[in-house]
Amino acid sequence: MGNSKNTNVTVKIVLPLLAVTVMTIYKSAAQEADKVASFKIGDVTVSVLSEGQQNNNTANLIGTTPEMLKKHVPDGTYPAAVNAFLVHAGNRTVLIDAGFGRNLFDNLQSLGTPAEKVDIILLTHMHGDHIGGLIRDGKATFPNSALYLPQPEYDYWMGNAERGGQAQSVIAAYKDRLHLFVPSEADDAKEIIPGVKAIAAYGHTPGHTGYLFESAGSRIFIWGDLTHAMAVQMPHPEVAITYDVNPEQAVAYRKKLLDYVAKNKITIAGMHIAFPSAGNIKADGKGYIFTPLQ
Ligand SMILES: [Zn+2]
Repeated sequence: MGNSKNTNVTVKIVLPLLAVTVMTIYKSAAQEADKVASFKIGDVTVSVLSEGQQNNNTANLIGTTPEMLKKHVPDGTYPAAVNAFLVHAGNRTVLIDAGFGRNLFDNLQSLGTPAEKVDIILLTHMHGDHIGGLIRDGKATFPNSALYLPQPEYDYWMGNAERGGQAQSVIAAYKDRLHLFVPSEADDAKEIIPGVKAIAAYGHTPGHTGYLFESAGSRIFIWGDLTHAMAVQMPHPEVAITYDVNPEQAVAYRKKLLDYVAKNKITIAGMHIAFPSAGNIKADGKGYIFTPLQ
């Protein structure tokens, strides 16, 4: 830039700091349809690992009206899925949840990431469709992974032997590499590992948590079970599901976090969003519109 006396003016080009990156989903030939897809967020590669796709019955939703269902899900079912996510960030390989353990290990293999290569596992919560892949015959299936678990989630599952079953077995199998942390609120989110913030999304379970990844000015919020029925809960975030431990709290956090990601143009991904399970959220009246990544 010119630096003579007459033109000694600092020219600053302000670029939008956290612009939504244009993302293209790609699959390798070895990957079966609708099981694995990958996309880039900044310098980070995110892959959805599908444990299965299905249509669920609206009978398990709380707070619907006949008019609402007729408008948004006329056949009485909504598309859903069970997913885990894998994130390659620099020299770290991070798994977020572990599904049932159904397709998980084949899907990881198809990405060239056997279980031994996963460094860190982040758990959104400890329902069976999120932790089933972590143990087999009571033994840890990821031999080298640190396991990050929200403290309130740990307390909930450890506080009751009957409820705890599978969750307690997972905690026992990973007890030497367990990292407990307290999630923060979205507007004051703190990193638990470099580039990753843990954000409270309580209600579905008492410690339910989403993970915000930030890289090169782009962000993705992997929000766990913040929604189960996108077709209904996008236009009507006030609708809950019978699996919510505290439906009222789940609704409050859903509204708060939908507002947060829409306002901040943060790409989202969810454990029960139909393939490819990630996209962008825009406010629309009292509800939201979800546009899947293409
Ligand atoms: Zn779930």
